[in-house]
Amino acid sequence: MGNRAVSVINRRNRADGNEAKQEGIQENGLTFSYGFTMMAQNGLKGSGMSAGGFLESLPDRAYFFDKGLRFACTQCGTCCTGEPGIVYVEADEASRIASFLEIPFEVLVERMLDPFKDGYTVREAEQGRCIFYENGCVVYPVRPVQCMTFPFWFQNTRSASAWEEVRVRCPGVGKGRLFTREEIITFVQASYPVYLKVVEFIYKGGGG
Ligand code: SF4
Repeated sequence: MGNRAVSVINRRNRADGNEAKQEGIQENGLTFSYGFTMMAQNGLKGSGMSAGGFLESLPDRAYFFDKGLRFACTQCGTCCTGEPGIVYVEADEASRIASFLEIPFEVLVERMLDPFKDGYTVREAEQGRCIFYENGCVVYPVRPVQCMTFPFWFQNTRSASAWEEVRVRCPGVGKGRLFTREEIITFVQASYPVYLKVVEFIYKGGGG
C-alpha cells in the first residue's frame, strides 16, 4: 500500500508516548500501506459492499477480541514501505496535512497526492515508499484515518486467523497496551468506509 515520504519535508513528527495518549485514536499505528490493498482483497468475501446498518450493528455480537487486543507500533516502517498500495486521503485530511506541513493545499496535491475516488491517494516515492515516510512518518499527528486505525481494520479483525496473519507482517501486533473491544470496534467503524472505497476500486475498475 502506499507509502510516502517526501524529501522536501525535513521535519520528523512522530508521536511519542505522551502525544499518543493525548491523541487517543492516533495511538495505534503508523502509516497504512500496501497491506491495505492486499488485505482488502483477502477480506472481500462476505464483506458486503455497502456500510448500510452494518457499522451500527457491529457492537451487537461477540468477537474473538472481546477481551481486547494488544498493539504498539514499533515504528519499523514495514507498512509504509515496500509493495505499492493505496492510502486514501479525503479532502479534509489533505487540508490538515497541508497545514501541518505549512505548505499550500495545491502544492500538497500537486506534489504528493493523486486523485482517487472522491479524494486522493498518497503518492509513492522510490521502491514503493510512502512519500510521507522518511525515517518515520512526517505527518504522524495528522495522518489519514486509514493509517490511524491500523491494524484494527475490518479485514484484520474479522477473525482470529485474520489477526494472526497481520501479526506475521506487523511486529507491533501482540505488544503494548490492550485496546478494548469498544476501541477496536470504533476503529473498524472509522476505517470501513475507506476499505469499501479500495475494494470498489480494485473490483469495479476504479470508477468514482
Ligand atoms: S510495527 Fe506495524 S504498524 Fe508499526 S511501522 Fe511496523 S508494520 Fe507498521
